[in-house]
Amino acid sequence: MKRVVVAGAGISGLSLAFDLERLGASVLVLESERRAGGKIETDRRDGYICERGPASYLDRHNSITPLARSLGIEGRVLPASAAGECRLVVADGRLHDTPLDAGAFFRSRLLPLSAKLRMLADLVLPRGPSARGQEESVTAFASRRLGTLAGERLLQPLVSGLYAGDPDVVSLPAAFPLMAELEREHRSLVLGLRADLKQQRAKRRAGAPRLSSFVTGLDELTTALASRLGDRLRLGVRIVQVERAESGFRLALDENGRSSSLDADALVLAIPAHQACQVVRPLDSNLSEILAHIPYVPVALVHLGYFASALPRPADAYGFFVPASERLKILGAIFASAIFPDRAPVGFSLFSVRAGGARHPETAGLPDEELTALAHADLQGLLGLTAPPAFAHVVRHERGLPQYTLGHMERVAALEAGERRYPGLHFHGNAYHNAGVPELVSRSGTLARRLAEEFSR
Ligand SMILES: Cc1cc2nc3c(=O)[nH]c(=O)nc-3n(C[C@H](O)[C@H](O)[C@H](O)COP(=O)(O)OP(=O)(O)OC[C@H]3O[C@@H](n4cnc5c(N)ncnc54)[C@H](O)[C@@H]3O)c2cc1C
Repeated sequence: MKRVVVAGAGISGLSLAFDLERLGASVLVLESERRAGGKIETDRRDGYICERGPASYLDRHNSITPLARSLGIEGRVLPASAAGECRLVVADGRLHDTPLDAGAFFRSRLLPLSAKLRMLADLVLPRGPSARGQEESVTAFASRRLGTLAGERLLQPLVSGLYAGDPDVVSLPAAFPLMAELEREHRSLVLGLRADLKQQRAKRRAGAPRLSSFVTGLDELTTALASRLGDRLRLGVRIVQVERAESGFRLALDENGRSSSLDADALVLAIPAHQACQVVRPLDSNLSEILAHIPYVPVALVHLGYFASALPRPADAYGFFVPASERLKILGAIFASAIFPDRAPVGFSLFSVRAGGARHPETAGLPDEELTALAHADLQGLLGLTAPPAFAHVVRHERGLPQYTLGHMERVAALEAGERRYPGLHFHGNAYHNAGVPELVSRSGTLARRLAEEFSR
């Protein structure tokens, strides 16, 4: 039987290996760290549940629910409270709701009347570059469709929220393909978003999943996957490089400083692009060069716990995003215990403040105490907190999130051409098409079926 080696035991590698195995393939996952899960990791301390990476997921592609069912952990899925529906944005130093309903939006104080009227131009404006599959920055797209101020307060924060990126250089069609698709299909972004919202609400009424996590944290999912893979997952083994072998590939491995080699019929690199860049260099220096051009930004999360009495009013929302024009140093915060009440002990509230990213990379490197003080000060200014945090926990990712900067679609197309040049070689993971956990799991399913089909020929 042909053997697939998967490099990397993040959610991409683990879910791919699980799907491959169910399709009858022989699979081995090699992970350089001593634990599986990659960016998904949950810290449980002092009664708080702190996510080091993703805190929740929206299963738009219906990929996580069936995966949880197959793993027998469907009962562990934890739907978010109603607070998870409400997203806030900072404008002129204050928090504002972003109502989805047209009437409430026009009544809201998020934008002045002139900006709201400018948004209406979107209804008649022609399609632009993104709709034609050409790259443009999120800032260019947002200003073109909605006007500068509305773009800055409504679309740009998504770039901080999802990629911790810089909207001036992040490519709209690469990072937010749905927006480009809505423009292509509906011409007007506003009408497209309205149609999409209607569709999402209908799906929700029909029982589609809401924003969710798992009872004691998102790493329940990766732990279940890892334990299901058993000895088909080897921890502490780094793939150093790959070369062509007679049939397939020869991999050079490093295990605690001990070198060895392994042959594989197919190799899936479900590792960050900066790692894949090193691994493929001996095979193809052009591919390595392309991978080197996918940048990563540092991200820090500051988990802060407060006595509930320190909050002048309940923080009933998913959290907030900070547009680039605001003077705050943080990128936003998730109201972790408002979405999932068990994330904090009874009588306390937990907030996860995000800092760093492309806009303030230096902030992610501040000493813990400074970073905690900065996160608390910004939070205090917005929420009116009346006491310092009772709990603080800082988490850092030196290369936290990949950036789909202008030119990304071309780079991905060149990598796909490389995959065709080396049958059996595949690039998978969050560096290429989407960083969301459900999207990665969905792509694992597609790739597993493709590999199984290739093997059956
Ligand atoms: C702070 C933060 C918050 C986020 N929030 C959300 C969210 O709320 N919702 C959401 O959907 N997504 C979120 N994301 C994104 C999401 O977590 C990631 O995109 C996803 O977990 C990446 O999974 P992956 O398997 O592609 O990569 P990774 O998780 O990075 O896994 C790659 C694995 O490869 C291993 N590896 C590296 N090099 C080698 C090698 N040479 N040999 C063997 N193994 C190797 C690494 O050790 C790692 O375990 C967030 C990410 C971060 C950082």
